[in-house]
Amino acid sequence: MAEARLDFDVMVIGGGPAGYPAAIRAAQNGLKVACVDAWRNRDGSSALGGTCLNAGCIPSKAMLESSELWHRAQHEFSAHGIKVGSLTLDLATMQKRRAAIVRGMTGGIASLFKAAGVTAIYGKGRLLARREVEVTAADGQVSRLAARHVVLASGSVPSELKALPFDGANIIDSWSALELDTVPRRLCVIGAGVIGLELGSVWRRLGAEVVTLEALDALLPMADAQLATEAGRHFKKLGLDIRLGAKVSAAVPGKDGVSVRYADARGEQSLLADKVVVAVGRRPYTEGLLDAASGVTLDERGFIGVDERCATGVENVWAVGDVVRGPMLAHKGKEEGIAVADRIAGKYAHVNYELIPSVIYTAPEIAWAGKTEAQAKEAGIECKAGVFPFAASGRAKAMESTAGFVKLIANRVTDEILGVHIIGPMAGELIAEAVLAMEFRGSAEDLQRTIHAHPTLAEAVHEAALAADKRAIDNINR
Ligand SMILES: Cc1cc2nc3c(=O)[nH]c(=O)nc-3n(C[C@H](O)[C@H](O)[C@H](O)COP(=O)(O)OP(=O)(O)OC[C@H]3O[C@@H](n4cnc5c(N)ncnc54)[C@H](O)[C@@H]3O)c2cc1C
Repeated sequence: MAEARLDFDVMVIGGGPAGYPAAIRAAQNGLKVACVDAWRNRDGSSALGGTCLNAGCIPSKAMLESSELWHRAQHEFSAHGIKVGSLTLDLATMQKRRAAIVRGMTGGIASLFKAAGVTAIYGKGRLLARREVEVTAADGQVSRLAARHVVLASGSVPSELKALPFDGANIIDSWSALELDTVPRRLCVIGAGVIGLELGSVWRRLGAEVVTLEALDALLPMADAQLATEAGRHFKKLGLDIRLGAKVSAAVPGKDGVSVRYADARGEQSLLADKVVVAVGRRPYTEGLLDAASGVTLDERGFIGVDERCATGVENVWAVGDVVRGPMLAHKGKEEGIAVADRIAGKYAHVNYELIPSVIYTAPEIAWAGKTEAQAKEAGIECKAGVFPFAASGRAKAMESTAGFVKLIANRVTDEILGVHIIGPMAGELIAEAVLAMEFRGSAEDLQRTIHAHPTLAEAVHEAALAADKRAIDNINR
C-alpha cells in the first residue's frame, strides 16, 4: 500500500519522562520529530514533563526537601549549637517554591525541544491506522498528521478505590496531596508504597498526625528484609502510624471529618481524618489513545502489549514508560524512550531491566538495586553479605545523619556483586555507584580496590564491600 503523506519521521504521544527523551534522542539522530502532549495544569495551561515533572517526582522532592529542613530545624539544629528560637511555618511560600521549581523544569523541556528541533504539539493524540495521528488541540481543533514511526508514551494515572472515589476535597490523589494549602490536623494515607510513604513523611514532618493504612501484612515487601525492618523503625520514630493488614472498605465525609472504615486482624476499625490520600498505585492511561483501526492491543491489566524492545507488534509503533509493563519509574521510562529512538535510527540499544534502581526519598532515604539476600538465596546462589552502618561514617556523623547502613550482597563463589541495599543519608545518590559496578558485573573486590574519597558517605559502600569478606577497617567484622 502506498505510504500516506508523511509529516514527521517520528511522532511521540506523551511528553513525560518516557516520551520527551525519546523525542530529543530521535531528533539527535537526525530525524524530524514531533511530540504531542495533553497535560493540563489546574489553570488549564499546557506543560511538558508529564506526571513526573508536574505532579510526581519533582514536586514531591521539593516538598520532601522543604519539610525535612523544617523538621531538622526543629529537632537537629540545636545539636549543631544553632539556636533558632521559635520557628514559623510559611506553607504558602513553601508551596510557591514547589510550583516555581515545577514551572522552571517543565519550561526547560520546551527549551530543550526548541534547541533539538522537536516540534511540540499541545493536544490529545489518537493513533489511527497506518501511523496516522489525530490531534485534538485544547481549543477543540482537530488535525491529522502521519509519521513513519509512532512512540506511545501516555503514562499512568492514580488508581482509585471503588469504595473511595476521589472527590477532590476530602478524598484526594497524590497530586492534590502535594498541593494542600494548610497542614491537615489528621491525615489518613491509604497505601504504604513509595508514594504513600513519601507523602505521609511530608505532612507528618509539617505537623499532621498521619495514619497510614496498608492492606499488605508486611512493610516494603519488595525491599531487602533487613532494610524494611530498619525503615519501619525510623518511620515509627518520625511518628508515622503505619497499620499493616488494614483493608479499607469505606470513607464517609461527616461534620467531624472523614470516617475511614477498615478491617484488620482485630476486626472492624474506623478512624477520623481531615483528609484521606489514596495512594494505592497507578494504572496505565490509554483513554482515547487508540483507535480500533490502529491495531495496538492492551494486555489484561490495561498495559499496551510490547516485546522486550518496546515494539507493539504493529509495524513501527512502539510504546514506552508507565503505559507498558515493568516498574512505574521515570528513569525506567527514560531509558526505554532513548532505546526506542535509537532502534528507530537503526542503532543498537539495550535496557537492563535487572538493574533498575529503586529509591524512596524518606528520611533516612532508602535505595536498592539488584537482588535482595532472600532473592539470591531463593535463586540457589551461595552468597555473602557485608553491612556497614552510617554510625561508623565520619561524614555521616558530621552531617548528624547516622541512621541506617549499606548492605552489599555478593556471590560467595565468583564474588560478583548481586545487590546493594542502602538506608541512610543520600542513599539515592550512593546507589548509582552500586548500579554502575553491577552494570559492569563488578565484584566486591572491585569496589574494595576502588579508592573512595575521605570523608564521604560513599566510603560506606566501600566498607560494605570490605565487610562482605570480613575485612572492613572502620567497623568490627562479625
Ligand atoms: C507523587 C509521585 C511521586 C513520584 N516520584 C517518583 C520518583 O521519585 N522517581 C521516579 O522514578 N518516579 C516517580 N514517580 C513515578 C513517575 O512520575 C512516573 O513513572 C513517570 O512520570 C512515568 O513517565 P511516563 O512518561 O511514562 O508517563 P507520564 O509522566 O504520566 O506522562 C505521560 C504524558 O502523556 C500525556 N498523555 C496521555 N495521553 C495522551 C494522549 N492521548 N495524547 C497526548 N498526550 C497524552 C499525559 O498528559 C502526560 O503528560 C512518582 C509519581 C508520583 C505520582
